[in-house]
Amino acid sequence: MACVRFQNSKFEIQPGQTVLDCLTEHGVRISSSCKTGICQTCMLRSTSGTVPVSAQQGLRSTLVDQGYFLSCVCIPADTIAVEMPGTQANPVTHVSLVAKDWLNEDTARLMFEGDFPDEAKSGQFFNIERPSDGLIRSYSSAQIGMGSLEIHVRRLPGGKMSSWLCDEISPGVPCRITGPYGACYYAGCDADQPILMIGTGTGLAPLLGIANDALAKGHRGTIRLYHGSYRTSGLYLVSELKLLAKQYSNFEYLPCVDFGEHGTDKGEFRIKRADLAAAEDLADLTGYRVFLCGHPEMVKSAKRRSYLAGASLKDIFADPFVISPVG
Ligand SMILES: Cc1cc2nc3c(=O)[nH]c(=O)nc-3n(C[C@H](O)[C@H](O)[C@H](O)COP(=O)(O)OP(=O)(O)OC[C@H]3O[C@@H](n4cnc5c(N)ncnc54)[C@H](O)[C@@H]3O)c2cc1C
Repeated sequence: MACVRFQNSKFEIQPGQTVLDCLTEHGVRISSSCKTGICQTCMLRSTSGTVPVSAQQGLRSTLVDQGYFLSCVCIPADTIAVEMPGTQANPVTHVSLVAKDWLNEDTARLMFEGDFPDEAKSGQFFNIERPSDGLIRSYSSAQIGMGSLEIHVRRLPGGKMSSWLCDEISPGVPCRITGPYGACYYAGCDADQPILMIGTGTGLAPLLGIANDALAKGHRGTIRLYHGSYRTSGLYLVSELKLLAKQYSNFEYLPCVDFGEHGTDKGEFRIKRADLAAAEDLADLTGYRVFLCGHPEMVKSAKRRSYLAGASLKDIFADPFVISPVG
């Protein structure tokens, strides 16, 4: 039977059990959040044994080379020895909140200041730790640079971290964040390459960061941003994005709502799911760079559809906003 060695102990891994669950069952405290191999909170380093390739997906190649892996999706076939990650894998920034305002009735914009890693780019996500109990959740950056980080947080009913960030945290409160993580950012792109962005809810945050970065860097290709919401009240920054579209002829903003509210839409918003509206408009995505952020189901289906429409897999970047499982 496969085992996991940690410090001076050796624990048997039950069939189908992950390294995270095995260690947690034996009282080892490992931070985790999404438990689907996306947020990277539960990263560990293997010092011997074979880590399944699937447990290293999405990690930077420098981390893969050093044996880092995501323990929540790691089911090893043989015994592996593991240790806690160093700060290279999880660069820590001490931040404090400087401002908070509401973008719509459920979505707050929070600005933090701190000494962020130079390589951090708008669109990447960070893991924020609540100081009182160490609860960790991921949030994507709408803007990062000059010592400041902007995030958009949607308050979920009963959501522990989102309620704290939206309703309780006040300016000056210090917290610890790790990151940046993820590949949703503007880089390595031909300046004439067309870009398609589809986001739902606060999936707008990283897309806004990427679009602003691309425009500031002189991107010449078309940038089409589809922002989707269940209802019109869920859209936000509508006038700012319309203004941006007026300023840049290559930037197009297409707000979409699943259900139109009588009397309020007046043709201003597309009454269609954002990913379906994009598919209707753009049948051929050959040569496109595609960014998909927000609801996991939307991200999954839009990724598949983009690939089938001709976008190359290496040009599709996605961050599904997975909600942590209860418990
Ligand atoms: C890579 C990544 C990036 C992310 N970026 C962002 C971001 O920029 N902005 C952002 O707001 N979030 C983002 N998230 C989601 C975020 O990390 C949290 O999961 C979210 O804020 C909820 O955390 P919570 O502690 O408030 O909720 P929890 O206390 O963990 O639980 C929320 C509860 O709500 C329930 N629930 C699930 N889905 C819904 C729903 N759609 N509506 C209502 N209730 C629901 C769940 O069953 C659960 O009981 C991101 C996630 C990932 C993985």
